[in-house]
Amino acid sequence: MIKTANFVVSNADPSNCPKPDRAEIAFIGRSNVGKSSLINMLTGQKGLAKTSQKPGKTQLINHFMINDKWYLVDLPGYGFAKVNVKVKHGWENMISTYLTKRENLCGVFVLIDSRLEPQKIDLEFLLWCGTEGVPTALVFTKADKQSKSKTDQNIHKFLKKTEQIFEEAPDYFVTSAEAGTGKEDLTKFLEELVTE
Ligand code: GDP
Repeated sequence: MIKTANFVVSNADPSNCPKPDRAEIAFIGRSNVGKSSLINMLTGQKGLAKTSQKPGKTQLINHFMINDKWYLVDLPGYGFAKVNVKVKHGWENMISTYLTKRENLCGVFVLIDSRLEPQKIDLEFLLWCGTEGVPTALVFTKADKQSKSKTDQNIHKFLKKTEQIFEEAPDYFVTSAEAGTGKEDLTKFLEELVTE
């Protein structure tokens, strides 16, 4: 159970992140996928992660301390429609450095909008994770937005696409920040990851 969650620090430079002296789990996804809402649901704190960051705002790696034991990291979203090339490259540099160099990173949760057919940008990012050996799991968000059968259909299609990327099917979770769906399962999994 997540009992306490406190903001620690934001960084633009991965080498300034806190000392890697405890387990760390990161969340990433397309902008507007519901990442802030999910983090707020998991931690039970409505305002912890800022919802809907706008393009142009500084993109930062945000560390939160959970239960005085492990770090939860909120990474900036990808796929803003209108960012310029410089911002895009800055993001890529920051994220690739963080994800490949962060030694205490136990897992990266890539959020996928369960309403949508498989999106190229998500599959490209996952392909990169797979190639780099980043330990990846999936979270399908906004499951309250459509029928369960539609959600299942989209997830099935998505997982089918990832078969070409991962040798072993990634762990995945279905969530709704609105309805609280998936909170227990995901929390349990996070706790197992950080105590391994
Ligand atoms: P972020 O940009 O990935 O951090 O996404 P946000 O958490 O800011 O969410 C983007 C929008 O989707 C907001 O309007 C949220 O209220 C909405 N949203 C996020 N999660 C859910 C969910 O589980 N269900 C529904 N219905 N809306 C959601």
